[in-house]
Amino acid sequence: MYDYDLLVVGSANADLVIGVERRPAAGETVLGSDLVVHPGGKGANQAVAAARLGARTALLARVGDDAHGRLLLGTQRAAGVDTAGVLVGGAPTGVALITVDPSGDNSIVVSPGANARLTPEDVRAADALLRASRVVSAQLEIPLETVEEVVLNLPSGTRFVLNPSPPRPLPAAVLAACDPLIVNEHEARVIAGRALDGSPEDWAAALLTLGPRSVVVTLGAQGALVADGEAVTRVPSVKVDAVDTTGAGDAFTAALAWRLGAGSSLPDAAAYAARVGAAAVTRAGAQESFPSAEEVAAL
Ligand code: ATP
Repeated sequence: MYDYDLLVVGSANADLVIGVERRPAAGETVLGSDLVVHPGGKGANQAVAAARLGARTALLARVGDDAHGRLLLGTQRAAGVDTAGVLVGGAPTGVALITVDPSGDNSIVVSPGANARLTPEDVRAADALLRASRVVSAQLEIPLETVEEVVLNLPSGTRFVLNPSPPRPLPAAVLAACDPLIVNEHEARVIAGRALDGSPEDWAAALLTLGPRSVVVTLGAQGALVADGEAVTRVPSVKVDAVDTTGAGDAFTAALAWRLGAGSSLPDAAAYAARVGAAAVTRAGAQESFPSAEEVAAL
Protein backbone atom coordinates (compact mmCIF):
# COMPACT_ATOMS: atom_id res chain seq x y z
CA MET A 1 0.00 0.00 0.00
CA TYR A 2 2.96 2.32 0.58
CA ASP A 3 5.41 3.02 -2.26
CA TYR A 4 8.21 3.83 0.20
CA ASP A 5 9.31 2.22 3.44
CA LEU A 6 11.08 5.43 4.38
CA LEU A 7 10.99 9.06 3.28
CA VAL A 8 13.95 11.06 4.56
CA VAL A 9 13.41 14.82 4.74
CA GLY A 10 16.74 16.52 5.25
CA SER A 11 20.05 17.88 4.14
CA ALA A 12 22.44 16.97 1.37
CA ASN A 13 25.98 18.35 1.52
CA ALA A 14 29.24 17.97 -0.30
CA ASP A 15 31.96 17.37 2.28
CA LEU A 16 35.20 18.95 1.00
CA VAL A 17 38.09 17.45 2.94
CA ILE A 18 41.73 18.57 2.97
CA GLY A 19 44.39 16.94 5.14
CA VAL A 20 46.79 19.41 6.78
CA GLU A 21 49.87 19.13 8.99
CA ARG A 22 48.39 21.81 11.22
CA ARG A 23 45.00 23.53 11.06
CA PRO A 24 45.47 27.22 10.19
CA ALA A 25 45.25 29.92 12.84
CA ALA A 26 43.54 33.26 12.12
CA GLY A 27 45.23 35.02 9.23
CA GLU A 28 47.41 32.01 8.41
CA THR A 29 47.62 30.04 5.17
CA VAL A 30 48.75 26.41 5.22
CA LEU A 31 49.27 23.92 2.42
CA GLY A 32 47.20 20.78 2.43
CA SER A 33 46.68 17.49 0.64
CA ASP A 34 44.65 16.99 -2.54
CA LEU A 35 41.00 17.82 -2.08
CA VAL A 36 38.65 14.86 -1.52
CA VAL A 37 34.91 15.37 -2.03
CA HIS A 38 32.51 13.07 -0.18
CA PRO A 39 28.72 13.01 -0.42
CA GLY A 40 27.28 13.89 3.00
CA GLY A 41 24.61 15.71 4.95
CA LYS A 42 22.48 13.88 7.49
CA GLY A 43 19.47 13.53 5.19
CA ALA A 44 21.47 12.17 2.28
CA ASN A 45 23.37 9.87 4.64
CA GLN A 46 20.20 8.42 6.14
CA ALA A 47 18.65 7.84 2.73
CA VAL A 48 21.72 5.97 1.45
CA ALA A 49 21.95 3.93 4.65
CA ALA A 50 18.32 2.81 4.41
CA ALA A 51 18.45 2.03 0.69
CA ARG A 52 21.62 0.00 1.12
CA LEU A 53 19.81 -2.16 3.69
CA GLY A 54 17.05 -2.81 1.17
CA ALA A 55 14.46 -0.23 2.25
CA ARG A 56 12.42 1.40 -0.52
CA THR A 57 13.64 4.91 0.18
CA ALA A 58 12.88 8.41 -1.07
CA LEU A 59 14.63 11.69 -0.26
CA LEU A 60 13.02 15.13 0.04
CA ALA A 61 15.88 17.63 -0.04
CA ARG A 62 17.26 20.59 -2.01
CA VAL A 63 20.58 20.85 -3.82
CA GLY A 64 22.05 23.53 -6.04
CA ASP A 65 22.11 23.47 -9.83
CA ASP A 66 25.85 22.77 -9.73
CA ALA A 67 28.47 20.01 -9.80
CA HIS A 68 28.04 19.17 -6.11
CA GLY A 69 24.29 18.83 -6.57
CA ARG A 70 24.81 16.46 -9.49
CA LEU A 71 27.32 14.44 -7.46
CA LEU A 72 24.79 14.09 -4.63
CA LEU A 73 21.95 13.12 -6.96
CA GLY A 74 24.23 10.55 -8.55
CA THR A 75 25.25 8.91 -5.28
CA GLN A 76 21.64 8.79 -4.11
CA ARG A 77 20.51 7.12 -7.33
CA ALA A 78 23.44 4.71 -7.31
CA ALA A 79 22.36 3.58 -3.82
CA GLY A 80 18.81 3.04 -5.07
CA VAL A 81 17.19 6.11 -3.49
CA ASP A 82 14.23 7.64 -5.35
CA THR A 83 15.32 11.26 -5.99
CA ALA A 84 12.10 12.55 -7.58
CA GLY A 85 11.65 14.63 -4.40
CA VAL A 86 15.07 16.26 -4.57
CA LEU A 87 14.59 19.89 -5.62
CA VAL A 88 17.31 21.61 -7.60
CA GLY A 89 18.27 25.30 -7.52
CA GLY A 90 17.69 28.38 -5.38
CA ALA A 91 21.19 28.42 -3.88
CA PRO A 92 24.47 26.52 -4.19
CA THR A 93 24.54 22.97 -2.81
CA GLY A 94 25.36 22.90 0.89
CA VAL A 95 29.01 22.24 1.64
CA ALA A 96 31.11 21.37 4.66
CA LEU A 97 34.72 22.63 4.40
CA ILE A 98 36.74 20.25 6.52
CA THR A 99 40.42 20.44 7.44
CA VAL A 100 41.76 17.47 9.31
CA ASP A 101 45.19 17.17 10.94
CA PRO A 102 47.29 14.01 11.42
CA SER A 103 45.81 13.39 14.87
CA GLY A 104 42.32 13.32 13.32
CA ASP A 105 41.19 16.61 14.89
CA ASN A 106 39.25 18.71 12.41
CA SER A 107 37.89 22.21 11.84
CA ILE A 108 34.66 22.47 9.89
CA VAL A 109 32.80 25.35 8.26
CA VAL A 110 29.32 24.51 6.98
CA SER A 111 27.56 26.56 4.33
CA PRO A 112 23.94 25.29 4.43
CA GLY A 113 23.25 26.70 0.94
CA ALA A 114 20.29 24.97 -0.68
CA ASN A 115 19.49 23.09 2.57
CA ALA A 116 18.42 26.39 4.12
CA ARG A 117 16.05 26.92 1.17
CA LEU A 118 14.08 23.70 1.68
CA THR A 119 10.88 25.48 2.71
CA PRO A 120 7.53 24.59 4.31
CA GLU A 121 6.04 25.25 0.86
CA ASP A 122 8.31 22.54 -0.58
CA VAL A 123 6.90 20.15 2.02
CA ARG A 124 3.31 21.02 1.11
CA ALA A 125 4.14 20.48 -2.57
CA ALA A 126 5.48 17.01 -1.68
CA ASP A 127 2.20 15.87 -0.17
CA ALA A 128 1.98 12.85 -2.49
CA LEU A 129 5.43 11.72 -1.36
CA LEU A 130 4.44 12.00 2.30
CA ARG A 131 1.28 9.98 1.65
CA ALA A 132 3.26 7.28 -0.14
CA SER A 133 5.64 6.74 2.79
CA ARG A 134 5.24 4.42 5.77
CA VAL A 135 7.84 6.23 7.91
CA VAL A 136 9.22 9.76 7.63
CA SER A 137 12.53 10.69 9.25
CA ALA A 138 14.06 14.13 9.67
CA GLN A 139 17.06 15.88 11.22
CA LEU A 140 17.78 19.57 11.85
CA GLU A 141 20.20 20.53 9.09
CA ILE A 142 17.19 22.08 7.32
CA PRO A 143 14.99 24.91 8.69
CA LEU A 144 13.00 24.01 11.78
CA GLU A 145 9.84 25.49 10.14
CA THR A 146 10.25 22.89 7.41
CA VAL A 147 10.35 20.07 9.96
CA GLU A 148 7.31 21.59 11.67
CA GLU A 149 5.49 21.54 8.32
CA VAL A 150 6.35 17.85 7.90
CA VAL A 151 4.75 17.16 11.27
CA LEU A 152 1.67 19.24 10.39
CA ASN A 153 1.23 17.37 7.10
CA LEU A 154 1.99 13.88 8.40
CA PRO A 155 -0.71 11.49 7.13
CA SER A 156 -2.42 9.49 9.88
CA GLY A 157 -0.70 6.14 10.16
CA THR A 158 2.68 7.47 9.03
CA ARG A 159 5.33 7.22 11.71
CA PHE A 160 7.71 10.12 12.38
CA VAL A 161 11.28 9.69 13.55
CA LEU A 162 13.49 12.65 14.45
CA ASN A 163 17.21 12.90 15.12
CA PRO A 164 17.47 16.54 16.29
CA SER A 165 20.99 17.16 15.04
CA PRO A 166 22.39 19.78 15.24
CA PRO A 167 20.26 20.16 18.38
CA ARG A 168 18.07 23.09 19.35
CA PRO A 169 14.99 23.41 21.57
CA LEU A 170 11.94 21.96 19.81
CA PRO A 171 8.31 23.14 19.65
CA ALA A 172 5.83 20.95 21.54
CA ALA A 173 4.06 19.86 18.33
CA VAL A 174 7.30 18.47 16.89
CA LEU A 175 8.20 16.70 20.12
CA ALA A 176 4.71 15.17 20.36
CA ALA A 177 5.04 13.66 16.87
CA CYS A 178 8.36 11.89 17.53
CA ASP A 179 8.12 8.11 17.77
CA PRO A 180 10.95 7.97 18.58
CA LEU A 181 13.09 11.04 19.29
CA ILE A 182 16.66 9.78 18.76
CA VAL A 183 19.40 11.65 20.63
CA ASN A 184 22.96 11.27 21.81
CA GLU A 185 24.02 12.73 25.16
CA HIS A 186 24.75 16.22 23.82
CA GLU A 187 21.48 16.39 21.89
CA ALA A 188 19.57 15.14 24.95
CA ARG A 189 20.96 18.02 27.00
CA VAL A 190 20.07 20.71 24.45
CA ILE A 191 16.56 19.35 23.85
CA ALA A 192 15.94 19.13 27.60
CA GLY A 193 17.28 22.68 27.95
CA ARG A 194 19.34 21.84 31.02
CA ALA A 195 22.11 19.65 32.37
CA LEU A 196 20.87 16.09 32.76
CA ASP A 197 21.84 14.25 35.93
CA GLY A 198 21.99 10.57 36.57
CA SER A 199 22.05 7.70 34.12
CA PRO A 200 20.92 7.57 30.47
CA GLU A 201 17.72 5.97 31.84
CA ASP A 202 17.12 9.19 33.78
CA TRP A 203 17.80 11.32 30.68
CA ALA A 204 15.27 9.28 28.70
CA ALA A 205 12.69 9.70 31.45
CA ALA A 206 13.30 13.47 31.48
CA LEU A 207 12.91 13.66 27.70
CA LEU A 208 9.69 11.63 27.76
CA THR A 209 8.10 14.27 29.98
CA LEU A 210 8.53 16.73 27.06
CA GLY A 211 6.02 14.79 24.98
CA PRO A 212 7.65 12.37 22.50
CA ARG A 213 5.92 8.99 22.23
CA SER A 214 9.26 7.27 22.61
CA VAL A 215 12.92 8.10 23.09
CA VAL A 216 16.12 6.43 21.95
CA VAL A 217 19.44 7.49 23.48
CA THR A 218 22.50 6.42 21.47
CA LEU A 219 25.61 5.77 23.52
CA GLY A 220 28.36 5.15 20.96
CA ALA A 221 30.36 2.02 21.79
CA GLN A 222 28.01 1.45 24.76
CA GLY A 223 25.07 0.82 22.42
CA ALA A 224 21.74 2.49 23.02
CA LEU A 225 18.71 2.69 25.26
CA VAL A 226 15.04 2.78 24.30
CA ALA A 227 12.15 4.11 26.37
CA ASP A 228 8.49 4.22 25.41
CA GLY A 229 6.87 5.24 28.65
CA GLU A 230 6.15 1.63 29.66
CA ALA A 231 9.61 0.15 29.66
CA VAL A 232 13.22 1.23 29.40
CA THR A 233 15.41 -1.27 27.56
CA ARG A 234 19.18 -1.27 27.14
CA VAL A 235 20.38 -2.30 23.70
CA PRO A 236 23.92 -3.68 23.87
CA SER A 237 26.44 -2.64 21.27
CA VAL A 238 28.19 -5.10 19.00
CA LYS A 239 31.92 -5.32 19.71
CA VAL A 240 33.88 -4.22 16.65
CA ASP A 241 37.22 -2.58 15.88
CA ALA A 242 36.11 1.00 15.31
CA VAL A 243 37.94 2.71 12.43
CA ASP A 244 35.78 5.82 11.89
CA THR A 245 32.55 6.66 13.70
CA THR A 246 31.45 9.30 11.14
CA GLY A 247 27.86 8.64 10.10
CA ALA A 248 27.21 5.92 12.69
CA GLY A 249 24.29 7.91 14.09
CA ASP A 250 22.80 8.39 10.62
CA ALA A 251 23.11 4.68 9.81
CA PHE A 252 21.57 3.81 13.19
CA THR A 253 18.62 6.18 12.69
CA ALA A 254 17.91 5.01 9.13
CA ALA A 255 17.99 1.35 10.13
CA LEU A 256 15.79 1.94 13.16
CA ALA A 257 13.21 3.89 11.14
CA TRP A 258 13.09 1.19 8.47
CA ARG A 259 12.70 -1.70 10.93
CA LEU A 260 9.95 0.13 12.83
CA GLY A 261 8.06 0.57 9.57
CA ALA A 262 8.47 -3.14 8.89
CA GLY A 263 6.67 -3.86 12.16
CA SER A 264 9.55 -4.50 14.58
CA SER A 265 9.15 -3.45 18.20
CA LEU A 266 11.24 -0.48 19.30
CA PRO A 267 13.78 -2.67 21.22
CA ASP A 268 14.11 -5.07 18.26
CA ALA A 269 14.47 -2.23 15.76
CA ALA A 270 17.12 -0.61 17.98
CA ALA A 271 19.01 -3.90 18.33
CA TYR A 272 19.14 -4.19 14.54
CA ALA A 273 20.13 -0.52 14.23
CA ALA A 274 22.97 -1.07 16.72
CA ARG A 275 24.34 -3.79 14.44
CA VAL A 276 24.12 -1.40 11.49
CA GLY A 277 25.84 1.37 13.47
CA ALA A 278 28.57 -1.05 14.53
CA ALA A 279 29.14 -2.20 10.95
CA ALA A 280 29.36 1.44 9.84
CA VAL A 281 32.20 2.24 12.27
CA THR A 282 34.37 -0.58 10.91
CA ARG A 283 34.96 1.35 7.67
CA ALA A 284 36.16 4.88 6.92
CA GLY A 285 33.80 7.62 5.75
CA ALA A 286 30.06 8.08 6.11
CA GLN A 287 28.03 6.86 3.12
CA GLU A 288 30.97 4.72 1.97
CA SER A 289 30.85 2.87 5.31
CA PHE A 290 27.17 1.90 5.37
CA PRO A 291 26.55 -1.86 5.26
CA SER A 292 24.21 -3.99 3.19
CA ALA A 293 21.70 -6.27 4.93
CA GLU A 294 23.97 -9.23 4.15
CA GLU A 295 26.92 -7.52 5.86
CA VAL A 296 24.78 -6.80 8.92
CA ALA A 297 23.66 -10.43 9.06
CA ALA A 298 27.28 -11.58 8.85
CA LEU A 299 28.43 -9.31 11.70
P1 ATP B 1 27.42 10.68 14.91
O1 ATP B 1 26.77 12.01 15.15
O2 ATP B 1 28.91 10.65 15.10
O3 ATP B 1 27.03 10.03 13.60
P2 ATP B 1 25.86 9.80 17.21
O4 ATP B 1 26.50 10.43 18.39
O5 ATP B 1 24.56 10.34 16.72
O6 ATP B 1 26.90 9.68 16.00
P3 ATP B 1 26.54 7.20 18.23
O7 ATP B 1 25.96 6.96 19.56
O8 ATP B 1 28.00 7.52 18.13
O9 ATP B 1 25.62 8.25 17.47
O10 ATP B 1 26.33 5.91 17.31
C1 ATP B 1 25.06 5.40 16.97
C2 ATP B 1 25.02 3.93 17.26
O11 ATP B 1 26.02 3.24 16.46
C3 ATP B 1 25.32 3.58 18.70
O12 ATP B 1 24.13 3.63 19.48
C4 ATP B 1 25.87 2.17 18.57
O13 ATP B 1 24.81 1.22 18.50
C5 ATP B 1 26.61 2.20 17.24
N1 ATP B 1 28.03 2.51 17.47
C6 ATP B 1 28.63 3.73 17.45
N2 ATP B 1 29.94 3.64 17.75
C7 ATP B 1 30.18 2.33 17.97
C8 ATP B 1 31.35 1.56 18.34
N3 ATP B 1 32.55 2.15 18.53
N4 ATP B 1 31.21 0.22 18.49
C9 ATP B 1 30.03 -0.40 18.30
N5 ATP B 1 28.90 0.26 17.96
C10 ATP B 1 28.97 1.60 17.80
